[in-house]
Amino acid sequence: MTKSVADYLSARFEKRKDGCWMWVGSVNAQGYGRAYVDGRSARAHRVSFATWKGALGSDEEIRHSCGVRLCVNPDHLTKVDREVTDRKTYLLERVSVTDQGCWEWTEYVNKAGYGRCFLKGQTWFAHRLSYAIHKGDPGLGFVCHTCDNPKCCNPDHLYLGDNDTNMADKARRERHPFMRFTRVDVARIRSRRASGELLRTIAEDYDTDESVICAIAKRRRRTA
Ligand SMILES: [Zn+2]
Ligand SMILES: [Zn+2]
Repeated sequence: MTKSVADYLSARFEKRKDGCWMWVGSVNAQGYGRAYVDGRSARAHRVSFATWKGALGSDEEIRHSCGVRLCVNPDHLTKVDREVTDRKTYLLERVSVTDQGCWEWTEYVNKAGYGRCFLKGQTWFAHRLSYAIHKGDPGLGFVCHTCDNPKCCNPDHLYLGDNDTNMADKARRERHPFMRFTRVDVARIRSRRASGELLRTIAEDYDTDESVICAIAKRRRRTA
C-alpha cells in the first residue's frame, strides 16, 4: 500500500539541483501539488510527508522549509509544532480586528488595558503571547505597541523594546491618559460618576488618577 503510494509520487516529481522535488502532476488553486490517493484528492506534499516521514493528522500543519509549494521532498517538510498551532488558534479566536488593523483582545482586560489570558495552566499577557507565537519568546524583554493600543495583539504592531522604550511608551500614554479608555469604559465611568460614586473609588478601579476620571466625567457635562 505505502509502496504503491511511493511509486505514485515518485512518478510525479522531478528532482531539481537545489534539492527540491518539483511536483509535475496537477496543481490546486493555492499552488500546491494535488495527489489522488485511494480515490481521494490530497495535497501532494502532505501525502509525501505521510508516506516517507510518518503519520499526519488532518489538523496538523506542514511547512516547507524551502518555501516552494510544489516541492514534495520530505526533507524540506516539517510539521509545525502542535503547541504553536494550538496557541495561534486560541489567540485568533479571541481577537477582533479594528479598522486600524489592531487585533483587539476580546476577553479579560486588566486595569492598565492589557489583555490577559489563561492557557494550559499559564497566565499570559495576550500581546506577549502573540509576540511569542509569531516572533519568538520575548524572554524578559518588554513587548511594546507601535499603535498605542494595549489591547492589540497584532504581531505587526508589536516590537521588542528595552526598559527605556517601555518607559517612553508609558510616558507617552501618560501624556495622553485617555488613550487607553475604550468607549465602553468612558460610558461606564460617566454613569458611575453621574450616580455619585467617588472619583477616588473609580480611579482605583482603573488604576489611574482622580484627575483623569474627573476629566472624563467632565467632558460629558461639556458635551451634554
Ligand atoms: Zn524544496
Ligand atoms: Zn494595534
